[in-house]
Amino acid sequence: MLATGSGAEGADFALAERVTAAVRSVLGSPDAMIPLHEPEFRGREWDYVKACLDTGWVSSVGSYVDRMEQDLAAFTGIEHAIAAVNGTAALHVCCILAGIEAGDEVLVPSLTFIATANAISYQRATPHFVDSERVSLGVDAAALAAHLDRIAVRSGGLCRNRATGAVIRALVVTHIFGHAADLDALGRVCDDWGLVLIEDAAEALGTHYRGRHVGGDGRLAALSFNGNKLMTTGGGGAVLTRDAELARRAKHITTVARSPHRWNFVHDEIGYNYRMPNINAALGCAQLERVPDMLARKRLLADDYRAAFAPLNSVRFLDEPDYGTSNFWLNALVIDGATLAQRDAMLAALNDANFMSRPIWTLIHRLPMYRDCPRAELGNAEALEREVINVPSSANLADRR
Ligand SMILES: *Cc1c(COP(=O)(O)O)cnc(C)c1O
Repeated sequence: MLATGSGAEGADFALAERVTAAVRSVLGSPDAMIPLHEPEFRGREWDYVKACLDTGWVSSVGSYVDRMEQDLAAFTGIEHAIAAVNGTAALHVCCILAGIEAGDEVLVPSLTFIATANAISYQRATPHFVDSERVSLGVDAAALAAHLDRIAVRSGGLCRNRATGAVIRALVVTHIFGHAADLDALGRVCDDWGLVLIEDAAEALGTHYRGRHVGGDGRLAALSFNGNKLMTTGGGGAVLTRDAELARRAKHITTVARSPHRWNFVHDEIGYNYRMPNINAALGCAQLERVPDMLARKRLLADDYRAAFAPLNSVRFLDEPDYGTSNFWLNALVIDGATLAQRDAMLAALNDANFMSRPIWTLIHRLPMYRDCPRAELGNAEALEREVINVPSSANLADRR
């Protein structure tokens, strides 16, 4: 097709240039690559890390770990937070404490970061992939209910896969890019089938669903504080739960299941060395103080992207769902199916202009280790895999306004 020069979005070159111009109107004309997400240390990070070094308590015991857990509980309104070495370990702990056992199946989106499925596999359970919806990119509750009606039976209070006979123990949902999944609808499916709900809230610190911080609807939830997340502890994560006994268990198994004793090493089960070190928590305490400010600036950046993309018909800005408040961790564009042929031209033009941009994850059910897992129809996920691209999203980009 020939470019008409009329400003139509039909031609490859024209649309890629329009998308790049829209991003340029938000971010300016950078001399060096703007990353998708970079950490920001503008608060008391240096003070707290130095104070931590001065105490000598840099490992798994120390006041910053306890303080960070209290601060996280206060910030989220979820009663218990247990700090962990990273988000993947926190998710693994969620799977353990949800009672996921070898041979179980666990419902999980194919459209999520690999860690969500890996945490299930660490329990020798099998991911059972389900579809996503196009508003929040989270698990599609209606499609999930229909899928379970087709493939599952209730027996003895448990949900079983009719074909494999395996117990379907739990549903893990991810709040993708900081947009809350439809928790009420998903909670109803879990209640209906006796499934444990786990929330992968790794990307969603500061995100609310109908006024409540995400992570408290599920029996357990995981946060991540990796370097690319909203706030970072270098590496780190946390388990969230409203249940005091699960919180006690989470702390116990993340500290090698050591029974308290003045000098003896006694361990009462197989535990894990998953506790967040105090030096990371020192960084985390300072970062958490800055989260409200970072959230406010990320919202301003999202406002700019929304306005810049409003005039384009073929590419839409992925906005927050109307039931929630997103943290806008990673901003995403959704390309209209009819203009998909131009996606790679867009990615090339954006990256050439120093705006780091990349497609969403490869669907997990396509990866070799997960190819043979049970799965539902994944029509939306397969479309979204081709249609979604991320653009630079750091809070500091709002300072250019
Ligand atoms: C980052 C992330 C994780 C894993 O967190 P790490 O701290 O990197 O282990 C898990 N799930 C999702 C959806 C993530 O984005």
